[in-house]
Amino acid sequence: MKDFRYLEETIQLRLDENLCTGCGNCVTVCPHRVFTMQDHKAKIDDRGGCMECGACSLNCPVAAIFVNPDEGCGCATLLIHSWLQRITGRKSSSACC
Ligand code: SF4
Ligand code: SF4
Repeated sequence: MKDFRYLEETIQLRLDENLCTGCGNCVTVCPHRVFTMQDHKAKIDDRGGCMECGACSLNCPVAAIFVNPDEGCGCATLLIHSWLQRITGRKSSSACC
């Protein structure tokens, strides 16, 4: 997902590696491959790919991941409208959910 970036400077994704038990759930559920596993611990490998969907946080059994909004709505609407505008050249709504 190197071509589709969210608002990199505003991403609030955080990982407490001390809490991580290495289950791998975050790697499995993240649609943008933000995480990798190294030495049985999750690592944030591509912070800029995070779109704050919340899936990793919701599926971490030890609450090692924080992402805002933590309820999982993210701002996918804004991202999708940005993609459509880039692809079609037509102005799309810039409204965020
Ligand atoms: S919030 Fe979504 S996109 Fe961001 S790291 Fe977690 S699962 Fe991946
Ligand atoms: S879901 Fe949580 S415990 Fe599992 S690998 Fe990811 S950060 Fe570690």
